[in-house]
Amino acid sequence: MLVAKLNGQFINAADACPGKNYCCPECGEHLILKQGQSRIAHFAHQVNSRCVLREGESYEHLLGKQQIFEWARKKGWQAELEVYIPQLEQRADVFLRIGGQRIVIEFQCSPLPLTALQKRTLGYQSIGIKCYWFLGSPYKRKLNQRQTQKFVQLVNQQYTIIFWDTKAKILRLIKLAIKEQPLSLKGVTHDYHILHQLSLLQGTNPCIKEFTGGLPVICHQKIIGIQVTNHPEIYWRCLVVKRLNNVPLFTSFSLKSWLHLLKEVDLTEWVKFPCLSSSKIINDYLRVFTKQLLKSGNIMINGQTVILIRHPSYHRSLIKQYQEIQRLI
Ligand SMILES: [Zn+2]
Repeated sequence: MLVAKLNGQFINAADACPGKNYCCPECGEHLILKQGQSRIAHFAHQVNSRCVLREGESYEHLLGKQQIFEWARKKGWQAELEVYIPQLEQRADVFLRIGGQRIVIEFQCSPLPLTALQKRTLGYQSIGIKCYWFLGSPYKRKLNQRQTQKFVQLVNQQYTIIFWDTKAKILRLIKLAIKEQPLSLKGVTHDYHILHQLSLLQGTNPCIKEFTGGLPVICHQKIIGIQVTNHPEIYWRCLVVKRLNNVPLFTSFSLKSWLHLLKEVDLTEWVKFPCLSSSKIINDYLRVFTKQLLKSGNIMINGQTVILIRHPSYHRSLIKQYQEIQRLI
């Protein structure tokens, strides 16, 4: 830990001098000050301590916290290290006050279960504190989908993954956009491969067997950036097409009820995003999908009204579908 108590005052290990009676803010036990050329100054409990904070932190975690704290101060923000938040019984890595807003930065260098991440973020939210997760080097610059879904956050209204680089002492932001992926024959082949694999799984929804070939091209016009369904996107698109084909032509929807219709398609499992509003990101995705339907002439949009004007049609043969795809590539 980086902060201890000395005569009732909090003191940062970087400013501490040896030989004083530093105590743990949590348990009150005496702490050992560790300083040296090759490591970052910090406090540690005695070996036999039972305090909840006795566990050692990685070098990178200690260093990163200290750097983020200094970085925030340089920006002129009011910053504090390792602040205990009694309502949540939690210690925030770095606590900021910017204008009237209270902000917490958590510097994450170790794996964190989704439930713990959710609990922390929701806890902060429930008392009006905004929380940002900065990732350390154990998280590789290119996160997999699951990690992306866990740590994607909104920064200036953009979907972002935030890294703190302790070597360069800087913030690195990876921006992610939800956008259309160019249609390709390779992608289409891959979709059929996925559907085939799904149909082999036991207990799968029986309607998967309907999605074998000649699918409407809209099924293959996928969206990249952040995956929002727990199952492959092609499966969701097949389900939506099936649903839309049961809606009478020229039915009109308000934008809200249209998005609701798309969202409530049977058997869809939407991803839960712990660090941002799940409904916002899903709606952003559905808006891109709606634009695709508009482009392919299936719907018309009149102000805030969406009208279904053509059902997405299946192709009678793979040749016909191939020709249609070739036309669009
Ligand atoms: Zn303690």
